[in-house]
Amino acid sequence: MGSQTIRLGRLFGLEIGFNWSLLPFFLLVAWTMATEVLPSGAPGLSSTGYWIAGVLGTVVFYACLLAHELSHALVAKRKGVKVAGITLWLFGGVTQLEGEPSRAQDQALITAVGPLTSLVLAAIFFGAQQLLTSLNAPLLLVTLSAWMALLNLVLGVFNLVPALPLDGGRLLGTAVWWRTGSKDRGTTGAVRVGRFFAYLLIALGALEVLAGGLLNGLWLALIGWFLLSAGAAEGRQVGIRSRLRQVPVAAVMSSPVPTLPSWLTCGQLAEAGGPGAGLYALHGVGGEPMGYLPRSRADEAVRAGHPERRLEEVALAAEQLATVRPDENLEAALLRLGPRLEQGALVVANGQLVGTLSAADLARVAALAPLLARGPQH
Ligand SMILES: [Zn+2]
Repeated sequence: MGSQTIRLGRLFGLEIGFNWSLLPFFLLVAWTMATEVLPSGAPGLSSTGYWIAGVLGTVVFYACLLAHELSHALVAKRKGVKVAGITLWLFGGVTQLEGEPSRAQDQALITAVGPLTSLVLAAIFFGAQQLLTSLNAPLLLVTLSAWMALLNLVLGVFNLVPALPLDGGRLLGTAVWWRTGSKDRGTTGAVRVGRFFAYLLIALGALEVLAGGLLNGLWLALIGWFLLSAGAAEGRQVGIRSRLRQVPVAAVMSSPVPTLPSWLTCGQLAEAGGPGAGLYALHGVGGEPMGYLPRSRADEAVRAGHPERRLEEVALAAEQLATVRPDENLEAALLRLGPRLEQGALVVANGQLVGTLSAADLARVAALAPLLARGPQH
């Protein structure tokens, strides 16, 4: 999770957090409810009462968003895709998957369950509203239920719009992937539809503001702006990915295997400095193998005030490290490694260790990328 994420806790073994950007939107939703929705639906209460109900309603709304994201995450787990965690932000959430399903059908299922969850929640709140009305319950509760039903309905339908990064865009991309066999082509198409939709929302928002509907107009424009920036990020990702797919692990790994004497101390390694590798094989005095050292573990020991620790003391066994193949493409390898890239991976071909792959190797290649991308001038 990023540094701007505030941790909320764990649920179903998943890390749940929220981004600071959620707070102004939380207030905007609460404000809309406390000053417009609730007073018109259940008149005659104090403004403190409306605000308390508005804030509680907003908490329930974000709980519904969390349920939407959880459904994505749980189906992904079922389909064998690791889930790093869920982050709520603005008026939505992001489920971070480590890796991707390899089959279009699985991707479709993981995506479709989110809007489905929102629509089911809308139906439940609608039922609750009917029940509360028939029981002559306080108007405030009836209005809250009706509003939750509406919000979840909007959430479900809005997410089905075929524009990335919305679920509908992902479904469109998956459908194209299924038909053409090309994942990139699906994503690129969905990003383009998404951009069109985003500009449309911003234009509608501006018209609404000109027509005097400041709050509604601002909402539309904000959602449009959010879609625009999120879609652009998706588009960049496709570009990076298709480039990564053309590069085999063998082209960027540290090879021959970088080695260090196991009796060096973490402090000595830190002082040696230089770019170096991210994962070393250690050897003893007689040249015998002494395990593997992720550079990050040595740096950690120094930071923790133990520069005198020997490399062999913080080393890992081969079984504790991930392995990749030299002929594997970088996209597949990186998706599989996820955060384990931090420690580095052993590159193994036919049972033989031929190199190591780590974030340091990628950083070295990334530094060259701008030069390569520039190409010939015209
Ligand atoms: Zn979703």
